[in-house]
Amino acid sequence: MALAHNLGFPRIGADRELKKALEAFWKGELDEAGLRQVGRELRASHWQAQKDAGIELLPVGDFAWYDQVLTHSLTFGVVPQRFQRPEGAKPTLQTLFDMARGANGTDDCCGGAHAQEMTKWFDTNYHYLVPEFSADQQFALSWEQLFEEVDEAHALGHAVKPVIIGPLTYLWLGKSKGAGFDKLELLDRLLALYDEIFNRLATQGVEWVQIDEPILVLDLPQDWKNAYERAYNILQRAPLKKLIATYFGGLEENLGLAANLPVDGLHIDLVRAPEQYPTILDRLPAYKVLSLGLVNGRNIWACDLEKAADVLRHAAERLGERLWVAPSCSLLHSPVDLAREDKLDAELQSWLAFAVQKCQEVAVLAKAVNQPEAPDVLAALARSRAVQASRAASPRIHKPAVQARVAAIKPADSQRNSAFAQRIAKQRAGLNLPAFPTTTIGSFPQTSAIRLARQAFKQGKLTLGDYTEAMHSEIRHAVKIQQDLGLDVLVHGEAERNDMVEYFAEQLDGYAFTRFGWVQSYGSRCVKPALIVGDLSRPNAMTVEWIRYAQGLTDKVMKGMLTGPVTMLMWSFAREDVSREVQARQLALAIRDEVVDLEAAGIRIVQIDEAAFREGLPLRRSAWPAYLEWATEAFRLCASGVRDETQIHTHMCYSEFNDVIESIAAMDADVITIETSRSDMELLEAFEKFDYPNEIGPGVYDIHSPRVPSKDDMVKLLTKAAQRIPAERLWVNPDCGLKTRAWPETEAALVNMVAAARTLRATLL
Ligand code: GLN
Ligand code: ZN
Repeated sequence: MALAHNLGFPRIGADRELKKALEAFWKGELDEAGLRQVGRELRASHWQAQKDAGIELLPVGDFAWYDQVLTHSLTFGVVPQRFQRPEGAKPTLQTLFDMARGANGTDDCCGGAHAQEMTKWFDTNYHYLVPEFSADQQFALSWEQLFEEVDEAHALGHAVKPVIIGPLTYLWLGKSKGAGFDKLELLDRLLALYDEIFNRLATQGVEWVQIDEPILVLDLPQDWKNAYERAYNILQRAPLKKLIATYFGGLEENLGLAANLPVDGLHIDLVRAPEQYPTILDRLPAYKVLSLGLVNGRNIWACDLEKAADVLRHAAERLGERLWVAPSCSLLHSPVDLAREDKLDAELQSWLAFAVQKCQEVAVLAKAVNQPEAPDVLAALARSRAVQASRAASPRIHKPAVQARVAAIKPADSQRNSAFAQRIAKQRAGLNLPAFPTTTIGSFPQTSAIRLARQAFKQGKLTLGDYTEAMHSEIRHAVKIQQDLGLDVLVHGEAERNDMVEYFAEQLDGYAFTRFGWVQSYGSRCVKPALIVGDLSRPNAMTVEWIRYAQGLTDKVMKGMLTGPVTMLMWSFAREDVSREVQARQLALAIRDEVVDLEAAGIRIVQIDEAAFREGLPLRRSAWPAYLEWATEAFRLCASGVRDETQIHTHMCYSEFNDVIESIAAMDADVITIETSRSDMELLEAFEKFDYPNEIGPGVYDIHSPRVPSKDDMVKLLTKAAQRIPAERLWVNPDCGLKTRAWPETEAALVNMVAAARTLRATLL
């Protein structure tokens, strides 16, 4: 017998109901009772949808008003002092949103308290709020949500399994604040609280609790491994059954540790790490439940049910009643319901599965073990076989011309004609820029007029001619302002782009789009990634007309603006039938053609943004070299089709470069612009240990804030940079694109930035 369960369901709602309710609440258009009502309805409908799909044990605790890690911080009373009103009081919903978004500064207590830091949840595009621990951190049960939701589900007649982040993963995700202490020292205090929580859940009639410990798939320091044994030895007294859930990778050297913890069950991710299956089967103690994550919780492709059922049947022989089946990880990372899609063609639709459909897949897999001859099982397996066959043979996916071109790539295609030293000499001669050249990262403020024009054009309410004129007028505006400001390298402003990935995806062959495939990114923010369905190619030039038009308006150098292959890949739902490396190469060839076309149109600088380069890094260090190898190669492939005189820029908006600086250098962009201002040039540490060979623009001001930086601030930052990087290799630019800003603050900041560059030319040279 196999039991179908789920690790977590997306909370945002098939119509993004939670997003809408949250935003209405924040604007004061919905009161707290109304917001809570929306939450209750969403939970009820999500439990029902999972039950209807055939899930036997439903998750509780996967709902969050903003973020599940934040909910845990409230539950444990990990509320930094700046959010306590009055000090020591229990948190409220207001506290939760203050921690998530910052206190607004209008009230007397927490005015101006800055939000908690946000960072990526493992290697997903979901962001969580980083817990802040102090050395004297106390933990106290401070938030009743989990218990209330368990009662709520029980009242609806559901069999549930509360989900809680494990104590070690929770500590790992947090940050120690203040004088040096090791957050692992907090473990014993925290365990007392887990014990209390488990005891309460048991009194509520809970049989199983799911304890998420995804850090077991990371390279863990020895003291953390030791702490695992200690922690679960203490927690084993709690009177309910515990399933430890691991996901996003394989347990590898932590496998023995995870298998032998004194708990009642273990969940493993067999989508990301199928190779761990036989070893787990051998090493799992005979009393334990094993939950197999066989349906991918992080992508949109329908599961190959026959393949999964084979594994499951094999496991059933060994495990009998102790076998469970689930998605690989929480379905938080998957869109909600494929049935909502009304514009997909039937073929593509048959290839996909969103959260609701993934629950159905899990249920049918369990049934394939329990009642192998049941007609619905046979039908589902037959359908899945047909889907796999149709994809394997579809001309929509497999394009011989693209494959042949990829196969013909030669090493020389990823090399510029000359080394940087020769290139830069020719570029300097041709571009004729001053020292400390000033530029921006590409986008200018996306005003509502721009968004309306784009929308109207998409809906057919604006003709191509009128739309083109509207965009041209934006470009003229942006060019005039840049000229008046005295910037050296101009951009066209990206008014025509909704999003730096979608804009290109829409013009490439091989991509598809959903209407409702939203996934939570953080809080109320959702993204709707494009789908890479088949081999990718570029039927027509994508940006050339806009950039050519912009260049025609000015004698200054106009920089062409593209999104790089790694970022295109990371921010899309990728294929699983070919490697990421192959998809990156296909994207690289398409972008390479665009770079070459821009050069032919007279564009002398082309920037290829790789915002997601670092976030593509695998969770395990052992997998880094392979990733970095193909990712840098893909970048070089798109950058190397041009003459030495054409200057290639890249842009990355984050500052943790220490780990990857050599690969960044290996990308061999002539100029890189990066984020540094928020970390006060901290990143330049990386440049202390490693002599970055090419030109670099360390972002001199933070575009995420409306604050206008002073000239002196920027001069200071650059003076600091000039201590590490020769002045003749420094550029002056903001740390990211300006699309989220308004024009007045943008102009004010750029006036100061240009003035800062002039001061530097006068003082540092
Ligand atoms: N060129 C893009 C812009 O300016 C870069 C965005 C990014 O790096 N996230 O908006
Ligand atoms: Zn950026």
